[in-house]
Amino acid sequence: MVESNSADLMDKIVSLCKRRGFIFQSSEIYGGINGFWDYGPLGVELRKNIRDCWWNDMVRRRDDVVGLESSIIMHPKVWEASGHVGGFTDPMVDCKVSKQRFRADQIFFSAVVVDGKIVGYVTVLESERIAEELQEKAETFKRKKAIQGKLEPVQPRDFSEAKPEEIPLIPSPATGEPGSLTPPRAFNMMFETYVGPLRDESAVAYLRPETAQGMFVDYKAILDTGRVKIPFGIAQVGKSFRNEITPRNFIFRSREFEQMEMEYFIADDDDWAKWHRYWIDWCREWLVSVGIPASALSEYNHPKEKLAFYSKGTTDLMFKYPFGVQELWGIAARGDYDLTQHAKASGQPMEYFDDAKKKRYVPHVIEPAVGVDRILLAILCSAYCEDQAPDEKGKMETRVVLKLHPRIAPIKVAVFPLLKNKPELVKKAQEVRDLLRPYMTVFYDEASAIGRRYRRQDEVGTPFGVTIDFDTLGEKGPELADTVTLRERDTMKQERVKISDLLGILLPRVR
Ligand code: ATP
Repeated sequence: MVESNSADLMDKIVSLCKRRGFIFQSSEIYGGINGFWDYGPLGVELRKNIRDCWWNDMVRRRDDVVGLESSIIMHPKVWEASGHVGGFTDPMVDCKVSKQRFRADQIFFSAVVVDGKIVGYVTVLESERIAEELQEKAETFKRKKAIQGKLEPVQPRDFSEAKPEEIPLIPSPATGEPGSLTPPRAFNMMFETYVGPLRDESAVAYLRPETAQGMFVDYKAILDTGRVKIPFGIAQVGKSFRNEITPRNFIFRSREFEQMEMEYFIADDDDWAKWHRYWIDWCREWLVSVGIPASALSEYNHPKEKLAFYSKGTTDLMFKYPFGVQELWGIAARGDYDLTQHAKASGQPMEYFDDAKKKRYVPHVIEPAVGVDRILLAILCSAYCEDQAPDEKGKMETRVVLKLHPRIAPIKVAVFPLLKNKPELVKKAQEVRDLLRPYMTVFYDEASAIGRRYRRQDEVGTPFGVTIDFDTLGEKGPELADTVTLRERDTMKQERVKISDLLGILLPRVR
């Protein structure tokens, strides 16, 4: 089997997504809009299955987590109190010549040092091979300028670490020439809008850049319903918006995306590190349960000196995407910062009276925050596979197969009559389709040769195929009547099963 893990894996996934109706560029007929994506018929199903799995495991199957759907536009004071108005910024750099914009921490540069002397600078954009690419560029630079002497190894730094006197000497990633990059400046990533008919300062509101603030703002209301006791969590799934400077890597970094976040409130004197660990492990196991191999996941602990002052610790679960190891899920221990901020700004107390401990305190919080789109991309990257399978004439050909976990596959089973011009086969196949449909997503397909129909389903990750043939009709003897071929996607193994047994066989395997 050829596992496709090469650099062109991303291209193959993007093209499969478009061809088969998973993901399209938004507003494509108008040339597209950068950082926005549409989910087509199969993409919607996949996304919904991811969301539903998360919701079932995170909320419905637990006693200590409840759900919330707060509004996307909230009172602007929410974002002042949370620190987003003042500090939700990325360092932005402009190239004055090309008019392109970059995030400072995504531009990497190094001095080119020959015999201990700086002879120039080289630049690359963030990638998996920053040091190697800079080294190659430094060698080319030295050769082109015909500089003699010993080239020292490059020392990569990102542009936010550039000294003011270095900035004019660092080449722009757009033009390759120095002199056009501006010093980094803070760019607030919140989208602004106006609420009501007036378009003045007093009407400014924001599209939420995270769902988490909804949980903090409604914490009191949920507490007052009397349903919850510390420790407990509030979970929410919903759209978030960030005016990212450089949206990229397909759906990995977009300007409109969906988050699944949960705020877990614990006692002020509870062992936060224990809960932090608990949620990191929970998230990791959950990812594995939807088909992401544990071997593709790793943990990154944010260094203490880079944490916000209130944060006790943040660990990111990282996934090995084709474009590098990147953050998939952030699990942050946020102390009592958010509730305290909202208590101060709103004048509403956020304390919890702990019956068991007979004391009042502002709870501390552990926050696992993840993007649906990043999970979806990680799932597609994990599932994409190419192997060899025989075509109709027995000739081996490359088969593209999405080895999606049956739990999240958009279509669970495809039902095929062997021939479409035999009414008895079609009728029987439609009966099988109708038998399964109330319990799972079924795709009925009677067009083209059976091998082709299998391939089409392999490519979109359908784990099972059921074929109705002449044996089903009892033409080869009564013992095979009302049996069908059940084909398994990954092994391509086929077995003969009774129609009356189908549901019992399939249901436990797709749930
Ligand atoms: P990054 O450093 O990659 O910008 P972040 O640390 O700002 O991410 P958080 O604010 O912790 O991200 O958001 C929580 C989760 O939301 C992330 O782990 C990621 O899964 C998702 N997410 C954040 N920004 C985006 C985006 N622009 N597009 C898609 N998903 C996103």
